[in-house]
Amino acid sequence: GAKSQGRGTYRFFEPDMDVQLQARRVLELDLRKALANGEFEPFYQPQVNIASSEISGFEALLRWRHPERGLIPPGEFIPIAEDTGLIAPLGEWVLAKACKDAMTWPGNLKVAVNLSPVQFRNKGLVTSVVNALSASGLAPDRRELEITESVLLQDNDATLTILHELRGLGVRIALDDFGTGYSSLSYLRSFPFDKIKIDQSFVRELSTRADCLAIVQSITRLGESLGMSTTAEGVETEDQFVQLRAAGCTEVQGYYFGFPKPLKELVFSLAPRQLSAEVA
Ligand code: C2E
Ligand code: MG
Ligand code: MG
Ligand code: MG
Repeated sequence: GAKSQGRGTYRFFEPDMDVQLQARRVLELDLRKALANGEFEPFYQPQVNIASSEISGFEALLRWRHPERGLIPPGEFIPIAEDTGLIAPLGEWVLAKACKDAMTWPGNLKVAVNLSPVQFRNKGLVTSVVNALSASGLAPDRRELEITESVLLQDNDATLTILHELRGLGVRIALDDFGTGYSSLSYLRSFPFDKIKIDQSFVRELSTRADCLAIVQSITRLGESLGMSTTAEGVETEDQFVQLRAAGCTEVQGYYFGFPKPLKELVFSLAPRQLSAEVA
């Protein structure tokens, strides 16, 4: 409440705040309509296996095609969907859509879908994953779910039960944004993740900061000894790719290999330039 915010009490009476709250209400109503009207669309970004130099799959990254405002990134509407409970139907919709889309891809390409920590508080999560899978006919091992460390912070027993149930379906589980937030190595002990995704903040400064390289090397070694693959996120340059490959990462993802794109614009092979990066 206002009192617990101390000096922030004043914020309640700022006209600004009123405008903000109102804007949020409008956005919330818009979100409900958007889901009903089919305005959401997953974009897909390639994940590249370093050893084979091939695309192993795509991560689904949700966008909102707003009729007036254009393309809205998830950072602007996922938090509102989480606050309003709309994340449950929205999350189930994305799962189903991504599985259906992946059925149109060649070979055994995987699809990775992000789960919100809020979805884990919802009893229906496992059922909605089962529903999405069976509706699409996609093989379970072509489906990967990405969760962040914050999921493991909340009610740990319940979360672990859900994770084991999901794993029981044959679905792969990746730990997203590793190394940020309330990161703790004990999370890696609490559940046998298939994949660790190294947060892009470490990749960004790889060339300029020795500590970032040391952290990336440690995570890849850790992953290797725990039998988990490691994907570096946010790879934008050839130099970063060369360093990540030398550090022993198993997979890379980032603008250097491909931007998130609509389904219709996907390409399923990489430009030779991206693969020929020589070790300096
Ligand atoms: P994330 O899962 O960690 O996704 C990676 C983000 O980094 C994406 O942002 C992606 O577009 C961006 N990215 C990829 N390559 C590069 C690069 O080379 N450089 C830079 N600077 N950025 C890069 P995006 O699409 O805005 O998504 C942000 C976050 O929103 C995601 O982070 C994920 O946590 C969340 N999100 C996206 N789609 C969904 C969804 O369907 N459900 C839920 N619950 N969350 C989602
Ligand atoms: Mg992700
Ligand atoms: Mg991430
Ligand atoms: Mg993230």
